[in-house]
Amino acid sequence: MKLRGGKTVLLAAGAALLLLWLFCLPRRLFRDACYSTVVESAEGDLLGARIAADGQWRFPPCDMVPERFAAALVQFEDRHFYHHPGVNPVSIVRAAADNIRNRRVVSGGSTITMQVIRLSRRKPRNLIQKAVEAFMATRLELRFSKRKILALYASHAPFGGNVVGLEAASWRYFGRPPSELSWGEAATLAVLPNAPASVHMSRGREELLEKRNRLLRRLMEHGDITEETYEASCEEPLPGAPMPLPSLASHFVSRCPAGKRTRSTISFPVQRSVEAVVDRRSDDLAREGIADMAAIVLDNASGEVLAYVGNSSAYRTRPGSQVDIASSPRSTGSILKPFLYAASLQDGTILPRTLLPDIPVNLSGFAPQNFDRNFYGAVPADEALSRSLNVPMVFLLRQYGIAKFHAILKSAGLTTLTEAPDHYGLSLILGGAEARLDEVAAAYSAFAVGRDTPFTDAVARWYTFEALGEVNRPDQLDWRLLSSVRKAAWKTGTSYGFRDAWAVGMTPEYTIAVWAGNAGGQGMPGLTGARAAGPVMFEILNLLPSSGVWFEEPSEGGKWADVCPESGYLAGADCPREQMLIPEAGLDSDPCRYHPKGEFVLPPAMEWYYRPFHPEYASAKKGASEIRMQFIYPQEGAVLKLPRQLSGEVEGVVFRVAHHDSDAVLWWHLDNEYVGETRFRHEMRLSPVTGEHVLTVVDADGNTSFVRFTVVRPD
Ligand SMILES: [Zn+2]
Repeated sequence: MKLRGGKTVLLAAGAALLLLWLFCLPRRLFRDACYSTVVESAEGDLLGARIAADGQWRFPPCDMVPERFAAALVQFEDRHFYHHPGVNPVSIVRAAADNIRNRRVVSGGSTITMQVIRLSRRKPRNLIQKAVEAFMATRLELRFSKRKILALYASHAPFGGNVVGLEAASWRYFGRPPSELSWGEAATLAVLPNAPASVHMSRGREELLEKRNRLLRRLMEHGDITEETYEASCEEPLPGAPMPLPSLASHFVSRCPAGKRTRSTISFPVQRSVEAVVDRRSDDLAREGIADMAAIVLDNASGEVLAYVGNSSAYRTRPGSQVDIASSPRSTGSILKPFLYAASLQDGTILPRTLLPDIPVNLSGFAPQNFDRNFYGAVPADEALSRSLNVPMVFLLRQYGIAKFHAILKSAGLTTLTEAPDHYGLSLILGGAEARLDEVAAAYSAFAVGRDTPFTDAVARWYTFEALGEVNRPDQLDWRLLSSVRKAAWKTGTSYGFRDAWAVGMTPEYTIAVWAGNAGGQGMPGLTGARAAGPVMFEILNLLPSSGVWFEEPSEGGKWADVCPESGYLAGADCPREQMLIPEAGLDSDPCRYHPKGEFVLPPAMEWYYRPFHPEYASAKKGASEIRMQFIYPQEGAVLKLPRQLSGEVEGVVFRVAHHDSDAVLWWHLDNEYVGETRFRHEMRLSPVTGEHVLTVVDADGNTSFVRFTVVRPD
C-alpha cells in the first residue's frame, strides 16, 4: 500500500514534470525584443535601416544563416551541436570540473541551444538558471530544427557596443551582408559574442585576434577550409570603427513600418542611379538658390515604386533636406492639365482638336494669363495642352465643370484636395490646388495603363499621350543638353511665383515624376518645370532599361466621325469634313458653329487675337459672321478691382472692343452717358465709380454691343 502510494507519487511527479517540460517555453521566445527598421530592395539588398527603440542595432530575425558563419560558430561554441538534444552532458561535466579546479566560473559548458534560451530570458548567470536553461533547451530542440535554433542565436547574440545579431554586426563591422562574409570575417563574428566588448578595447583586440586565428585553425583541421584559406584569413585585419549602414531611399525608409523588415518594390540599381542623377542636378541648381529636389519612378505594369527620392542629398546636413518633398503637398502649376483634357474628351465636352478660346477673360476677378502673356485667339485643345496654355484650359474647365473635375481628381487618388470645389474655383487647373509628387506619379502611372483610374476611355487617353508626346514647347528647355532623348508623354508645371517646378513623363513602361524647388517655399526666377525638372526627368528616363515601345492607337472603343478640320467640332452642314477617331461620347458633342456660310469665321474677340498668328485667316470674310463686334475686355459679369498708383491716384481700366471692319467707327456709352469715340483701334480708358455698370458701343450701321461689370475701387 505504502509502496504503491510511493509509486503513484512518483508517477504524478513524473507527469507533472512532463507537463512542466511540455509547457515550459513561451509561445514567442523573444517577445520583448524590439528591432531595427530594416528596408530591403526588391532584389533583397539592404536599402537602409533605423536603430531600434532601445538604441540597439538589432535587425528583425532572419531564418537564413550563411554556411561560413554557421560552421565557424558550431566549431567555436558547440562542436556537437548537430548531435546533442539541447544539452551536452560531457561538456557540462567538463565545465563543472574546470570551475571547481579554478574555484570560479571559467567555462560555461552551455550549448548554442541553451544560449538561445539565456538570450531570450536575460536572467543572472548562476547554476540554478543554467539548470533551467538546460531544461528549456531540450524542449526548444523539440520545437525547432537545428537551423532555426542557429538562426535564433545569430539574430540575438551580442556583438559589442549596441550591435546585436549577426546581420547588424556584419554591416556595422564589415559593411556587407552576412552572406558575403569571408572566412576570416565569419570567424571573427563567431568569436565575438563570447566576449563582445573585446572588439572595442585595444587589449581585448589582441585576445580576439588570437581566438579568431585558433578558430580558423580548427576549421582547417576539421576540413572546412584549405590551408591557403587558413593562412590568408589569418592575415585579415580585425574590423575598425563601426561603419555607417547603407542609406538609399532614406525618406522611403522613414515611411516604412518601424521595427519591422520590409521587402520593398524599389529596384536597387534604379534607386542608386536615380539618386546620383538627383544629387548631381540638385548640386547644379543649388547655385541658383534651388536647394531641394525629389523624384519617383514607377513601373506602370505593376504600379510599383522602382525609385523614391524624397529629397536630394539627404546625407548632407542642410536645412530642408530631411523634408520628404515627394509626399508633401505642393502647388500643382499645370501638372493637372492632362487630366482635364482627358476627362473632357471622355465625356464628350470636346473632341480632340476642338478650338478653345484664348482671349482676355475676367471671371469674378480671376483673369488668367498664358505663361508668355500672349493671347492666341483660338487654339485646338490638344495644342493648348501640349503648349500648356492657361487661358484655353480655364475656358475648358469652366465648360467641363469645376466640381466634376474636382471629383475626378479625387478618384484618381489625389488626397490633398481637402477643400470644396468652390474654394479652388477655376484656378484648380492653374495650380490653385496642392498635390503630392507620389500621388501625382501614381495617378499618371494608372493613366498610362488605364487601370485603377477614372480615365477609362482608351481613345481619350491615347489623344492625351499624343498631345503630351509633342516636344515643341514654349518653355526654355535646352534640348542640346539632351541628345538622343527617348520619347515620353510628358508635362511640366510651374507654380505661381516660381516656387515649384514639376515634370512628369510617361512611357508605356514607366512613369517618372520630378519636383524641384525649396522645401521652405522660396521662389526663384529659374524655377520652371521645363528648365529645372524636365531635364532631370529625361535623364532618368534615359537610364531605365526600355524596349522603346510607344502607346498604341486603340483598335476598339472609339467611333469614326466627320469632324470639321478647322474648328475641331463635329462637322456641320456647311463645314469641310474629315474622318477622325473620337471617344464614343463625342458623338453627342456640339456641331461646328464657325462655318455659318461655308467659310471659317471666328467671333470678333477671338479673331482679333487669332489673326496675327494666322496670316492664312483672310480678312475678306468680313460680313460672314453674324456677330459684328464683341467686347474683348472685360467679359460679361467681370469684377474689376481698380489698383491705386504710386502717386495715390486710382488707375483706370482700358476697355477693348474688336470689330470685323478694320475701319469702323465706334461710339461709347457708360451707363447711357456718352464717353467718346474710337477708330481703327477700339480702346477706351475709363475709371468708373464703385458699383455695377453697363458699357455700350454702337457702330455706324447701328449695331450695338454691351457688357455689364462691377467696379471695386480701393478704400
Ligand atoms: Zn466647321
